[in-house]
Amino acid sequence: MSEIKYQPETLAVRAGAVRSQFGENSEALFLTSSFVFENAAQAAARFIGEEPGNIYSRFTNPTVTMFEERLAALEGAEQCVATASGMSAILACVMGLLKAGDHIIASRSIFGATINLFNNIIKKFGVETTYVSATDVSEWQAAVRPNTKLFFLETPSNPLTEISDIAAIAAVAKGCGALLAVDNCFCTPILQRPLDLCADIVIQSATKYIDGQGRVLGGAVLGSRKLMEPVFGFLRTAGPTLSAFNAWILLKGLETLKLRMDAHSANSLELARWLEAQPNVARVFYPGLPSHPQHQLAMKQQKTGGGIVSFEVASSRGSVKEAAWRVIDNTRLISITANLGDTKTTITHPASTTHGRITPEARAAAGISDGLIRIGVGLEAVVDIQADLLRGLGN
Ligand SMILES: *Cc1c(COP(=O)(O)O)cnc(C)c1O
Repeated sequence: MSEIKYQPETLAVRAGAVRSQFGENSEALFLTSSFVFENAAQAAARFIGEEPGNIYSRFTNPTVTMFEERLAALEGAEQCVATASGMSAILACVMGLLKAGDHIIASRSIFGATINLFNNIIKKFGVETTYVSATDVSEWQAAVRPNTKLFFLETPSNPLTEISDIAAIAAVAKGCGALLAVDNCFCTPILQRPLDLCADIVIQSATKYIDGQGRVLGGAVLGSRKLMEPVFGFLRTAGPTLSAFNAWILLKGLETLKLRMDAHSANSLELARWLEAQPNVARVFYPGLPSHPQHQLAMKQQKTGGGIVSFEVASSRGSVKEAAWRVIDNTRLISITANLGDTKTTITHPASTTHGRITPEARAAAGISDGLIRIGVGLEAVVDIQADLLRGLGN
């Protein structure tokens, strides 16, 4: 479908679909580990790459390929490499593109497991990481070394929804010959397309909004054919490939992604506005609110504020931590879980869960207070989410 320029809604439903000989309307699930050849000559041609085609599902699988083509069309990428999870996407990106002696500059406000991967695993192989502010572009410039090869950021950040200026940071990366990778998990290509803003690589945890219904893990690395070749090379050899079953779930997830992201965004904006008006809420973090310090940038870079709303409770009695836990423990509908990007609304206390293992000083420096609550806003009626929160807010 490459000769006609289709809208994202259409690409989400149609891109990448290839029918088998049976003419199915819904994309087929190919649960097979290997593929058979007509004869020895064809096997030989496939193995040396003379003839395109499937060999083994650690390399390629038709259902996985359909998912890759569809996500690539939505992100505006030449190529997509699907992976077993979001973390294996980041691992494949680093292992494919960097070597011992290279240097990474990353935003401080990235996913906890990504920091763990950079600090405790990648570092063992001689790649060092320097952390800088998500929002202050001059810190990125100042951290550049002669061996800097990769810039890595996530926007909006978790849980404080800080916005990094993708185009400005991409310009710094270009200036020093480094690549910029953006973890686009919170926005998905429906709300933000980093490659259009001159990023080189997009990372997705498909586990979140792309599945959107909390069923499977998956991930992807996207970019130019040239950059994706070594990433795919790492993956087919090391093996954290996406399973065909998960690819099929995610392929069908993409079909409703636009509808869901619009609904998550509308619910989030309504909830954020309501929270701002609550007497026992001290502060609300949501890029779609005019009170967000980077509202202008967010609205330039993203289509909406997205589906994550964080807020700080004020304490009318006891500590702010008790007040935050009271809100969480009085919910009956909302799921108490650190996951997000689900039809079901989720609630987390970052200071004691996702950011519980760092020191109180480091937490304070990151702006994560004991009164902070993060909501992954789902698709229930907003009035029901409000009533569930109000019980513990105790206005
Ligand atoms: C969840 C998440 C990841 C990791 O994804 P998995 O699929 O759980 O491996 C990476 N980045 C962000 C921003 C995430 O929220």
